[in-house]
Amino acid sequence: MDRLSSHKATKEVVQKHNFKFSKSLGQNFLIDTNVIDSIIEGARVKEGDYVIEVGPGIGTLTKEMGRTAEKVVAIEIDKTLIPILEETLSDFSNIEVINKDILKVDVQELIEEKLNGGPVKLIANLPYYITTPIVMKFLEEDIPVTDIVVMVQKEVADRMNAKPNTKDYGALSVAVQYYCDTEIVAKAPRHMFMPQPNVDSTVIGLHVREEMKYPVDNEDIFFKTVKASFGQRRKTLLNSLSGLGFLSKDQIKQALQEANIDEKRRGETLSIEEFASLANEVNRINDENK
Ligand code: SAM
Repeated sequence: MDRLSSHKATKEVVQKHNFKFSKSLGQNFLIDTNVIDSIIEGARVKEGDYVIEVGPGIGTLTKEMGRTAEKVVAIEIDKTLIPILEETLSDFSNIEVINKDILKVDVQELIEEKLNGGPVKLIANLPYYITTPIVMKFLEEDIPVTDIVVMVQKEVADRMNAKPNTKDYGALSVAVQYYCDTEIVAKAPRHMFMPQPNVDSTVIGLHVREEMKYPVDNEDIFFKTVKASFGQRRKTLLNSLSGLGFLSKDQIKQALQEANIDEKRRGETLSIEEFASLANEVNRINDENK
């Protein structure tokens, strides 16, 4: 289907059901088939896969995944979309639609009950304010997920994907890349949606590594160290790490020295590996304080 006919098909479904778009639910439906193909490719969906889609809309992406995956569970908050999805997905016995708010779903239980215990892939094109919390929930709560493909505001994708010494590199880059290899899957400028949103989007792929790449002794201390390091961007690490609140200045100096990191450097210059060694020294000294 070319872009025009995808646009036409979406319009027809929306008109037939007299569907009213909700701005607060972030309802901008994708109408560009190239981006749809890129998302499916980015998620590396293959036979035998179990997929969770959040926010299927009228089922454009859902259908494509249903062609290959073993099972797709699509969670949609808007009950007015349910009869539409029943129609657009009627050919697929391997797709189950659940009318719920993803923020109220027990994902572990869902995977146990409906997705063979996982592992799963997560696909989502959601209102932006809930996308990052959901991605972090999947990564931090040990949910068995192998690939996450999400549509986010371009700036958020740039931050998730950023490397050290760039303006976009920050706590979100470290948090995501601590678990995943990242990949920009597709650009989705505003004209690729119906109705057109006010911002351009990017589809980012997060591929969760099977083995943890960075040896971290205490994850809580690791994330606190990262947060403090980026807390005051223009300060040197020696100063910004005082934000940790539990080490003296001398102890911060010691941690930096033992991790082989110059105290005059700034947080945005540290690789994740360096954050890991620094956090391990912070953790060791903190343990000695006890
Ligand atoms: N996946 C479709 C597409 O790409 O064309 C629709 C994407 S649209 C940007 C976002 C969808 O997420 C809407 O269908 C909206 O109703 C749904 N949604 C919004 N908040 C949600 C939530 N908390 N839980 C589940 N679905 C939600």
